[in-house]
Amino acid sequence: MSKETAKLGAQEVKAMKAKCPDCDADLDVPADTTEGEILSCPGCGLELEVKQINGGNIDLQELTLEGEDWGE
Ligand SMILES: [Zn+2]
Repeated sequence: MSKETAKLGAQEVKAMKAKCPDCDADLDVPADTTEGEILSCPGCGLELEVKQINGGNIDLQELTLEGEDWGE
């Protein structure tokens, strides 16, 4: 009897990996993350937007706050 068959049947939902474009820290991206979600980097605290998900590859872009005119 082989145990392999049983293992193949179970599809585990794994977290994906991404890198912070700023500090190169590894980010754990939950498997159910969708494009447009905001993640924060555990390394530098930067907010990163998920631009695109291609299989296991994730494109992150630094979330820039459009400078509202504070009118000094
Ligand atoms: Zn970072």
